[in-house]
Amino acid sequence: MMTFIVPHAVESLAIAPLTVLQEEEQLFQRSIRKFAQERVAPHVRAMDEAGVFRKDLLKEMFELGLMGVDIKEEYGGQGGSFFQSVLAIEELARVDPAASVIVDVQNTLVANAIERWGNPDQKRKFLPRLATDTVGAYALSEAQSGSDAFALTTRAVEDGSHFVISGRKLWITNAAEAGVFLLFATVDPAAGYKGIACFLVERGAAGFQVGKKEDKLGIRASSTCELIMDGVRVPRENILGEIGKGYKVAIETLNEGRIGIGGQMLGLAQGALDHAVKYAKERKQFGKAIGEFQGVQFELAEMATRVEAARLLVYNAARLRDAGQPFVTQAAMAKYYASTIAEEVASKAIEVLGGVGFTKDYPVEKLYRDSKIGRIYEGTSNMQRVVIAKALMESARP
Ligand SMILES: Cc1cc2nc3c(=O)[nH]c(=O)nc-3n(C[C@H](O)[C@H](O)[C@H](O)COP(=O)(O)OP(=O)(O)OC[C@H]3O[C@@H](n4cnc5c(N)ncnc54)[C@H](O)[C@@H]3O)c2cc1C
Repeated sequence: MMTFIVPHAVESLAIAPLTVLQEEEQLFQRSIRKFAQERVAPHVRAMDEAGVFRKDLLKEMFELGLMGVDIKEEYGGQGGSFFQSVLAIEELARVDPAASVIVDVQNTLVANAIERWGNPDQKRKFLPRLATDTVGAYALSEAQSGSDAFALTTRAVEDGSHFVISGRKLWITNAAEAGVFLLFATVDPAAGYKGIACFLVERGAAGFQVGKKEDKLGIRASSTCELIMDGVRVPRENILGEIGKGYKVAIETLNEGRIGIGGQMLGLAQGALDHAVKYAKERKQFGKAIGEFQGVQFELAEMATRVEAARLLVYNAARLRDAGQPFVTQAAMAKYYASTIAEEVASKAIEVLGGVGFTKDYPVEKLYRDSKIGRIYEGTSNMQRVVIAKALMESARP
């Protein structure tokens, strides 16, 4: 039986990423790289096959602070930057994009939304849990509302001090493990998107059920489930932000979340490149390493250039966000480009590995499957192009 090759050590990286990181960021990046290579990598294939993420690894991710990277220290988080969350997402994706998206949703969507929109009581109640032991999920999509996200039909009806929520959500990442759900529902259908509110719903609430788990092409160890709400009573104090402002909570968090997915796709592409370079140095044909043939070298050079271009876009968008500068167009570009090149680079990596690249004994086959989701979730590639084109059309420049 052939053995599954785990990603090679940091020292043997094909090229050191060129983008400048502060010393603190470098140390942070190294610690996650070590965790990903030593703890996650040995389990990637089995988790992918089983379609389940190991509970012990999830616990370790909490202990390492990966589930609360930019939650403030007063709430038990790491007090890091949004950029550091993206670095964590990138490093994990290099080894396992499924582990990466768990951390991505927790940090860039759930904790981020509570930090921004939560009142002091909500922050005190939910952020320490998210930082220490509770997985979060972000429930916007429904069967009939994907790209047209605000066409959602889940209803929240006011009943004294509570709202009663009924409806179904689809495709909810982390749902199998989550203890807290940010759930979007319409309070006033006549008001259209301005009738939406975001509710903090706890697992175990009466009438709330996590339904069918999807059997997916890629990121298989990340759970994606249906949610069924049948008269779930949620106290008024669990509204995140205001009634009618749910659309703002969604848009603003997704604008930032896109940078995270850009980071995930960037890490995936870097991982595929690393494997391709390593293999090209080792595999011999016609009496020499295939990496000595210019035809192979040019492919690798092309791949490396695309990865580095994606890195610049992703890091720039994250840094703009941390600096309080406009970043929405850059975020859309980062996600659009990184997900496009992730698919291309993973595909090329399979070709560099030849026949073995097409098998499950080497990790590039999985990275190729995992890459496909980048152009779909948190806004499809077309939706990113809509955002970019809108900015161009509205630009004051001729
Ligand atoms: C693995 C996975 C995890 C997910 N996780 C979550 C999650 O945690 N939370 C959550 O809320 N959702 C989640 N989603 C849902 C995801 O965000 C949606 O699948 C995505 O937004 C696309 O919606 P859709 O699938 O309904 O496709 P559709 O909107 O039906 O799109 C189908 C095609 O039509 C194109 N299209 C649609 N409208 C236009 C237009 N106006 N112009 C041009 N092209 C258009 C799209 O680009 C796409 O190519 C997840 C999905 C998957 C597969």
